[in-house]
Amino acid sequence: MRKPTFVIVALAASCACPPKQPAPQLAPAVAEPAPPPPPAPPPEPSHDEVLAGQAEKFVADMDGVLRKLFVDASVAEWANETDITDEHEAAAAKANQAQADGITQLIKDARRFDPILDKLDPDTRRQLMLLRFAGQPAPDDPKLSAELAKIAEDMTSIYGKGVCTKVKVKGKDTEQCKIVDDYSKILQDSHRPAELLAAWQTWHDGIGHEEHDLFARYVELANAGARAVGFKDVSEQWRGGYDMSPDAFEADVDRLWTQVKPLYDQLHCYTRRVLNKKYGDKVVPRTGPIPSHLLGNMWAQTWGYLYPDLEPYKGVAAIDVTPVLEKKFPVKPDPVESAKQMVKIGEAFYVSLGMDPLPATFWERSMFVQPPPPRKVVCHASSWDVTYSDDLRIKMCIKPDQEDLFTIHHELGHSYYFQAYYKLPIIYQQGANDGFHEAIGDTIQLSMTPAYLHEKGLLAKVTSDDKATINAQMKVALEKIAFLPFGLMVDKWRWDVFSGKVTPDQYNQHWWDLKLKYQGVAPPIPRSAADFDPGAKYHVAANVPYMRYFLAAVLQFQFHRALCKKAGFTGPLHECSIYGNKEAGAAYQAMLALGASKPWQDALYELTGERDMDASAILEYFAPLQKWLEDQNKGQACGW
Ligand SMILES: [Zn+2]
Repeated sequence: MRKPTFVIVALAASCACPPKQPAPQLAPAVAEPAPPPPPAPPPEPSHDEVLAGQAEKFVADMDGVLRKLFVDASVAEWANETDITDEHEAAAAKANQAQADGITQLIKDARRFDPILDKLDPDTRRQLMLLRFAGQPAPDDPKLSAELAKIAEDMTSIYGKGVCTKVKVKGKDTEQCKIVDDYSKILQDSHRPAELLAAWQTWHDGIGHEEHDLFARYVELANAGARAVGFKDVSEQWRGGYDMSPDAFEADVDRLWTQVKPLYDQLHCYTRRVLNKKYGDKVVPRTGPIPSHLLGNMWAQTWGYLYPDLEPYKGVAAIDVTPVLEKKFPVKPDPVESAKQMVKIGEAFYVSLGMDPLPATFWERSMFVQPPPPRKVVCHASSWDVTYSDDLRIKMCIKPDQEDLFTIHHELGHSYYFQAYYKLPIIYQQGANDGFHEAIGDTIQLSMTPAYLHEKGLLAKVTSDDKATINAQMKVALEKIAFLPFGLMVDKWRWDVFSGKVTPDQYNQHWWDLKLKYQGVAPPIPRSAADFDPGAKYHVAANVPYMRYFLAAVLQFQFHRALCKKAGFTGPLHECSIYGNKEAGAAYQAMLALGASKPWQDALYELTGERDMDASAILEYFAPLQKWLEDQNKGQACGW
């Protein structure tokens, strides 16, 4: 067994060199020996030196303060998400509020070191820098601060509660609510445009209208909080957390998008044609954007549910391990044991790379399946280090199907990142940038090739011909390529909102302008300034930054290419699996162990030898599909 090794960089002491001693007085040529001069008093440390010493102490103390805030909030959140009760909910809200207040206070206290940041040792400076991005700061005025917290909570709960209507049950007025999953299911399964439109509109109107005014006020208050700690606005704070200037980061994501746009355009073109054939010119015009209610997803962000319509070669080499999983890991009689066995498959992948088995506590403390009623839980899969001390857990409602097998590998990517860096100062216990964290497990998914699944006894036979390759790539592209422009536009919209570039009456129009520009999709019915369609997306309602998902979608292919190179693989990128390769594993581990202790460019370099994010690995991976799409689209007027 191999423990993760850490290289904690020795702190380069800041230059506290004493000022030069005055030149010694020359003694007169002939004189009585003078009595020795009184010893010079030790030089007074300069103001900057005193401050630098205080900064080092501040950072050391900060670790303890943050640790308590983070652990308290995380313990309370875990309790609530695995057992939703009024009591747990109140405790979680309280701990989250304490965390937000505590972080804001620390950021404010740390501002006195701003003038000497350049003179601090790199480690102290980095920890102070990361602190500024540790959360949404609260405005100075406690009344406004409380209002901000209240609005944030209200928006999340409006979204979570869903669209509610009054119905009569046994003659009594009763409220009945449908959540996003209920409407999403219709978008996934139905083939009737009217039914799809009704589901789309009910959700967008129901949630959006209720969120509109709250969100506009939220923007004002959140900006006040950002200004109170020295940012221009929230936009500057969000764009600034990437070890480069906010403007440089913005230019960087645009560059990445330019790289992959040609592939997206081909996928869009082919998809539009198939949908046009299916629904006719009236519903899907041959040119222009695709109406966004027809893509199998509420926000048109992934198109995987269209695969049966878009499958390039019908019935060729269907890669679906679900039937085998259902047989091997039956829900009865012991669902927990079956779910654990599926997680063991994921663990075995990481262990095959040379990483440690998961700690015993992982198996005792995780939530693997949905508990029986009346207990309520948040089933949405997530991965935790609850006490920031290798206290790894996942929370999932595992079913024996392919999607969940892949999700397990995604979640364990987070777990192994936590495990690699949990001994670092707490502010470093995060991804090199927020895109890294989401990319770790997804990178492993790219190694779950048909050949790998066959080796694990999950796939009876492997068909390796061109048609099977195109089918398999289409399936992945409908998730990962379709997602790219959406992953990009959500925060492009929010950056413009927080910076004041667009005003509340323009919110909805700007949302659709960006959806048109990047995704090539349009609202299915005319929209107005009274609508607030962004509010119908969880991450907007819950104020979770989104650019990380775009970055992760790019980084996972870049990581995959680098790991395959380390593993000595020389074939086409989509056929590479690093399963069982210790060299690739060691390189991955070395990057993970850095956490956020270095700029992300250094972490990326550690693994890939490159200092820039680069989407060319996506094009390399999907080269067969891109060629196939270009052939299919020949002579078509692509674009919108
Ligand atoms: Zn994740």
